[in-house]
Amino acid sequence: MNQSAFAFVDGVLHAEGVSAVSLAEQFGTPLFVYSRAALTQAYEAYANACAGRRAFVHVAVKANSNLAVLNVFARLGAGFDIVSSGELARVLAAGGKAENVVFSGVGKHAEEMREALAAGVKCFNVESIPELDRLNAVAASIGKKAPVSLRVNPDVDPKTHPYISTGLKANKFGVAFSEARATYRTAAAMPNLEVVGIDCHIGSQITEISPYLDAVDKLLELVEQIEADGTAIHHIDVGGGLGITYDSETPPDIGEFVKTLLDHIEARGHGFRNVFFEPGRSVTGNAGVLLTRVEFLKPGEEKNFAIVDAAMNDLARPAMYQAFHAIEPAVKREVAAQVYDVVGPVCESGDWLGRDRQLAIEAGDLLVIRSAGAYGFVMSSNYNTRPRAAEVMVDGGSAHVVRAREKVRDLFSGESVLPG
Ligand SMILES: *Cc1c(COP(=O)(O)O)cnc(C)c1O
Repeated sequence: MNQSAFAFVDGVLHAEGVSAVSLAEQFGTPLFVYSRAALTQAYEAYANACAGRRAFVHVAVKANSNLAVLNVFARLGAGFDIVSSGELARVLAAGGKAENVVFSGVGKHAEEMREALAAGVKCFNVESIPELDRLNAVAASIGKKAPVSLRVNPDVDPKTHPYISTGLKANKFGVAFSEARATYRTAAAMPNLEVVGIDCHIGSQITEISPYLDAVDKLLELVEQIEADGTAIHHIDVGGGLGITYDSETPPDIGEFVKTLLDHIEARGHGFRNVFFEPGRSVTGNAGVLLTRVEFLKPGEEKNFAIVDAAMNDLARPAMYQAFHAIEPAVKREVAAQVYDVVGPVCESGDWLGRDRQLAIEAGDLLVIRSAGAYGFVMSSNYNTRPRAAEVMVDGGSAHVVRAREKVRDLFSGESVLPG
């Protein structure tokens, strides 16, 4: 990840060439700030490792679906992994191509399938027999054949947080490994489906390569069985999930990760197949930060609180997964450090952003919450009728608003009171 994209210059945090202080003054807080250079660098780590090989990158839209972010990737030639027709609409509005889109997700609506088929997406990652039936019927109704792969649950332990591990037997995702071969036979027999590949996604924030190698081995075993049954598999989609450094995690280097997987697939005699990657967090996570201002310092008997203007509605990950985000003053200053819980104004005890953090701060100070580029703004809500934060993208020495801060009146513009 681009360490220089969010670095201190003379004690002041900068996003590329722009100081956090001027960003906060110009656009207000809480404020999501993305770095074009950091997005580019992370994407290119994948793309460069795939170059010259039969390997393709589909950026997972759900990690950060801002149009400007998607547009940065689209300009670099990225494909996209979507989980709704809303995300398809965003990809197309951002300049992405439907033919480079794979459609994942466990509960696709018929209308979403129709839109994606009409647009011409590359592949539907299907997760159950009822979903195959629905897709086959939708495709028949518009006289098309839908390209499909099955998301197989390889039942490997990705060694990550239970809420973000998806490839175990107890998860709602994917077709069970033991039923996959039979499900492929079912799919191959449906007249309006065309089996094109196989897919898995074993979890998120995975910091080791070995679970991927285990998953690939299981997929390849299946591929040989499916092909023995007479159905060709053109691509293997290994999913997303590579972790990033939030705190002290040491995920593998992206290029090394890609190369290890591709080499492994080649060594197993499957190098002629296309390989898809679906990274989300690892291309956007450390390319964004959340700026927030300290409203009050509230000393307590057991704990000191730093009450800030960002909250769980802006960044849900701490409340949702007890996730750690590094928090620092955006301007280094000479005051005594104390240990604080950094909390927001929302009326929930779960509204915290960081616990037991040593911070040298005063009321009014600007803080930076790091690693907020993935599953940050996209998971934000209007809880407590809080307008969602603005999003800004820095590109060298300039900052562009890529989503305006919401206004309170927008939040209830679709509501009405009873007549009379
Ligand atoms: C969420 C998701 C991804 C991206 O996961 P990251 O952990 O952000 O890399 C990729 N593929 C599918 C199917 C997903 O659901």
